[in-house]
Amino acid sequence: MSIIRQDPTTREWVIIAAERNRRPHEHPRPVRTGSQPPDTGFCPFCPGHEASTPDEVLRVPDSGGTGWAVRVISNKFPALGVGGGLERREPGPLFREMDGVGTHEVVIETPSHERSLPLMTDREVAHVLRAYQARYRSLRRDPRLKYIIIFKNHGEAAGTSLAHPHSQLVATPVPPMLLRRKYEVAVAHYDDTGRCLYCDIAEEERKAKSRVVLETDRFLVFHPFASRVPFETWITPKRHQPSFGQVSEEDLRELAPVLRRTLRALYDRLGDPDFNYIIHSAPAEDENKDYYLWHIQILPRLTTIAGFELGSGIYVSTMRPEDSAAVIRDHEQATAVQGSA
Ligand SMILES: [Zn+2]
Ligand SMILES: [Zn+2]
Repeated sequence: MSIIRQDPTTREWVIIAAERNRRPHEHPRPVRTGSQPPDTGFCPFCPGHEASTPDEVLRVPDSGGTGWAVRVISNKFPALGVGGGLERREPGPLFREMDGVGTHEVVIETPSHERSLPLMTDREVAHVLRAYQARYRSLRRDPRLKYIIIFKNHGEAAGTSLAHPHSQLVATPVPPMLLRRKYEVAVAHYDDTGRCLYCDIAEEERKAKSRVVLETDRFLVFHPFASRVPFETWITPKRHQPSFGQVSEEDLRELAPVLRRTLRALYDRLGDPDFNYIIHSAPAEDENKDYYLWHIQILPRLTTIAGFELGSGIYVSTMRPEDSAAVIRDHEQATAVQGSA
């Protein structure tokens, strides 16, 4: 069982999961961007190896040869586990810790070892989004879990240890400090204006146009005003909705092509870059408040985060978001023209 400890200087929580040391490729190795982990021959996520993965918690069926389109399993080396309670312990006057209660699941996005999200069909991406949402809604019912985050690491520089396309879902018993801080800012904006900061930002980006790359009836895709890294991309719904668990089936059907096209444009223009994406939602108990908007944040890993960023929390991006947005927007328009020809 892992433990969760609080850093007394920042009040941030740290998960200490010593079991994860047994993970594949545990030793630090130099990382090149754009590279997939080495092929070790046996892939536990490929069809035919279902018995070698931990418990399956969800299967999206498919009539194809493998019988499944998406599988969700427990993480073999979880950062957090289902046992334990929420009591805080104080091993010293300044030190606070608790059991590593939570869940850590892996979403195997496709039976195909090579078919990453940018190369999928809209229907396949929709299957993945439905699996995310089904697990989100299910975990949401456990009152011990305060915050659910869905994320994807693509490529070695983004932290992948297995090449087969997959994403992850972690539910924690404490809201992360970063979210708390964002929340305080959003609540202050709400107190001042009576409006949701995130909806206001999306509307301002939509009006400014210069950082927008794609707009559909229900979604807006843009490179944020203060992008942390080149080509940082946000996908936001145009209607206020705090949690990804609340997204309707109609919205999911429209989100699938929006996400696929966004990832495909980055894939085409940047040559299959390593990236992370995160689906941010409000904490479980704040799902019906007026001041947070679920959104997808995509962070291409084109540059390395180093001492200055780690020491100061200040990112140095080497590109204006107006310029990166123009590159992607032009690509979108060119491929849209091709598609209609
Ligand atoms: Zn595989
Ligand atoms: Zn909103």
